[in-house]
Amino acid sequence: MLKNLSLLFAFLVSITVHAEFINIGIFASKKVNSFTFSVRAGKYALFTESGKVKELNSKTSLNIKYIDGFVQVKEDGKLIGKYRKVNLMGIGWYNHFMVKSVSPSGLERRYDDNLKIVAQRSQMQLINNLDLDNYVAGVVEAEVGRNPPKEYFKLQAIICRTYALANTEKHEVGGYNLCDEVHCQAYHGKTFFNNIVEASMQTRGAVIVDSDIQLITAAFHSSCGGQTVNSEDVWSKSLYYLRSVKDTFCLKHRNATWEKVIDKNQWQKYLTARLPNTIQPNTILNFSVGDRLRYFPESKLSFEELRDKFRLRSTYFNATETDSKVVLNGKGFGHGVGLCQIGAMEMAALGYNYSEILHFYYSGVHIIDLSALDFFKED
Ligand SMILES: [Zn+2]
Ligand SMILES: [Zn+2]
Repeated sequence: MLKNLSLLFAFLVSITVHAEFINIGIFASKKVNSFTFSVRAGKYALFTESGKVKELNSKTSLNIKYIDGFVQVKEDGKLIGKYRKVNLMGIGWYNHFMVKSVSPSGLERRYDDNLKIVAQRSQMQLINNLDLDNYVAGVVEAEVGRNPPKEYFKLQAIICRTYALANTEKHEVGGYNLCDEVHCQAYHGKTFFNNIVEASMQTRGAVIVDSDIQLITAAFHSSCGGQTVNSEDVWSKSLYYLRSVKDTFCLKHRNATWEKVIDKNQWQKYLTARLPNTIQPNTILNFSVGDRLRYFPESKLSFEELRDKFRLRSTYFNATETDSKVVLNGKGFGHGVGLCQIGAMEMAALGYNYSEILHFYYSGVHIIDLSALDFFKED
């Protein structure tokens, strides 16, 4: 009976497996008014509100321009038509294209899969409709470059995929899921770096969920300086999997520590005004913290506020007074919540696998396949 049930489960899961596609608003803040579309691999078909117009092969390029509420399409200077919506759909086995902007000039990017162009009131919106894992690979390169070890790319891919699926409604008003800037996740189009493409494909469909099978807030930061931070210490929301952990992996990195010199009067004035008067002036100018703290001792002044006010690299630092200055010696870079990227890269270099690394920074989470997520959702 148990065996039959698990077979049934496997069957139900398998029928829900399908390629996920996602819509990304590209050149989000660039206001592209005119560009060239060229087929770089595969074959494309041009669809508009009046149906299929023509097929394009790899030698084709189109000039696309926004004119008075319409998208004008020309080929070799010859007008094909003016439309409200243009859909350039890949119909080959492996399709990618290039967008080269004419106005503003000089932007040139390559993308996987499909391109939708929608005429709006004062401009056109370019939307890259593509396979989720192709998108994830592009994001991984834009976010972390090509230097990290391959195992690291896998966990970054899982984080970026989890983020994307948890935020598909972020740009609902604009008619797409996510934009291509840091507001959502940086995405500069297709990656041609094999290690990243493979990492995305080898983790295809993998996402991180909490104990209720909900996608987690997969927070990460550059470097924690030896200890990560509880989520509520930065964002007020307490999430059980974003707990402070001691991390020795990032400590040897060249950017592990920082120093900032601040005018003594300025520092003293700000802190005195924000601290109860029972606190000795000397404590304000000279202190050292062992474990990471949320608040300055015996007060409601958060280190997060100081980080923001004095533009510090992290909330983890000691202070020492000199003649007219206060020298802050700190550790880490970023908000400190969730995964420490420098630590995770070091773990990957030491031979830990992506699952071990994710579980080290996110307490009590599960890595599951997207199809299982759909299954639980429908339940
Ligand atoms: Zn966005
Ligand atoms: Zn760290």
